[in-house]
Amino acid sequence: MIAIDVAIFGGGVAGLWLHDTLIRKRVTSILLEAEALGAGQTICSQGIIHGGLKYTLMGMLTGSAAQIRDMPDLWRKSLQGQTEPDLSRTVVRAESCHLWRTDSFSSRMGMIGAKIGLRITPQNLNETDRPDILANCPGQVSLLPEQVISPNSFLQDLLSQHTDSILKIDADRGCDFELNSDGQVTAIHLGGQTTTGRELSLAPKQVVFAAGAGNAKLREAINLKTPVMQRRPLHMVMVREKSADGSLPELNGHCVDGAKTRVTITSDTDTQGRMVWQMGGQISEDGVALQEAELVERAASELQAVLPGLRLENLEAATYRVDRAEGMTANGLRPETVQILCDGNVITAWPAKLALAPVLAEQIAKQIPNEPRDVEYNSLHDWPRPTVALPPWETATNWLPLQQNSGQSTMAHRKSA
Ligand SMILES: Cc1cc2nc3c(=O)[nH]c(=O)nc-3n(C[C@H](O)[C@H](O)[C@H](O)COP(=O)(O)OP(=O)(O)OC[C@H]3O[C@@H](n4cnc5c(N)ncnc54)[C@H](O)[C@@H]3O)c2cc1C
Repeated sequence: MIAIDVAIFGGGVAGLWLHDTLIRKRVTSILLEAEALGAGQTICSQGIIHGGLKYTLMGMLTGSAAQIRDMPDLWRKSLQGQTEPDLSRTVVRAESCHLWRTDSFSSRMGMIGAKIGLRITPQNLNETDRPDILANCPGQVSLLPEQVISPNSFLQDLLSQHTDSILKIDADRGCDFELNSDGQVTAIHLGGQTTTGRELSLAPKQVVFAAGAGNAKLREAINLKTPVMQRRPLHMVMVREKSADGSLPELNGHCVDGAKTRVTITSDTDTQGRMVWQMGGQISEDGVALQEAELVERAASELQAVLPGLRLENLEAATYRVDRAEGMTANGLRPETVQILCDGNVITAWPAKLALAPVLAEQIAKQIPNEPRDVEYNSLHDWPRPTVALPPWETATNWLPLQQNSGQSTMAHRKSA
């Protein structure tokens, strides 16, 4: 039995940032990952370090949501290696996002609302400073200094700094909890590692469930049966070049329509050098009700509407479904900020956003008694380690051609919609 301070379940952005924070405070923490690091939402996320735009589209920034305003600056310093965690090996895909709109009146209002309450505000671009892909957009194009990171490289970065204390577990067949009469977790027994046959028992003072959607099952395993989690499904589209021929330019940003982000596009390059876009925002919420082919068709018409002039012939698209997993809110809507529940010596946590992981880690770390000591992980050296999850475009197999909807005027489409 190995006595430790904290056992963290889940190696997405929430678990990894917390683990790093605790280790830096010389708290003995072990992170247990059931699949691959980030395998839930983090690897599927668009990697935007939000500063509050989404909260302010309605012209409101509530007290609890205000924490997000500090995130771009905090992450920027870490990404530059100026502060801890040192994320200087995390790839920054873009230093800022573009904001643009369709020419409807309501979208103009959205742009105005977007400026309220932000530490970083959109800066209007001159026509000559617009990227070519946004040259034909009606109305103002702005630049918002929110960075976009590669989630895959972020996960790699933190794994490489903590390989000695991040373990792969078999959550279904090899993870048993021992509880005392008060319902406190006194031990975690790990096994089921078919390759090694090895078993391991941990006696943690504190347990943290930071397993995204996996939190529900973990709570059930320790008899916390009241439902406290909600899932909000998304159906995302990915668009890529058929070959690495420059048909798809790099673009990161939001087309803002009224109080909603009609579409959020982020860019990365796949292992074959092809540009890939992820399309989120309203289309990914509306897309939940659509089949794959229907959503790809919708994506083609949305792209023609929000990016007039984009040629689709050399492009193809695939989709993926993913649930946002969060603490339950009264109305089932998106939570405004991080959510932390305490039950005895078990904390259950959801960050609500990738960008808010530092807030979550700081709030949890404050609740954990800090008795610094030198950490010895040597006895774990032969235990299996998790890999990092692959980005969704590396695992998608069904790529469909994007059909140019010729003869359809972009703005005519908007007006009739
Ligand atoms: C499509 C999409 C786009 C997004 N874009 C953005 C964005 O641009 N910016 C932003 O700020 N936020 C964004 N978000 C939100 C953000 O991705 C999530 O809030 C965040 O990644 C949640 O992190 P997490 O660590 O709580 O969960 P997850 O990333 O889901 O990680 C959970 C981890 O726990 C592991 N696990 C599950 N069960 C167990 C178990 N029993 N034992 C051990 N491990 C287990 C999983 O394998 C996984 O590694 C986006 C979300 C989605 C879905």
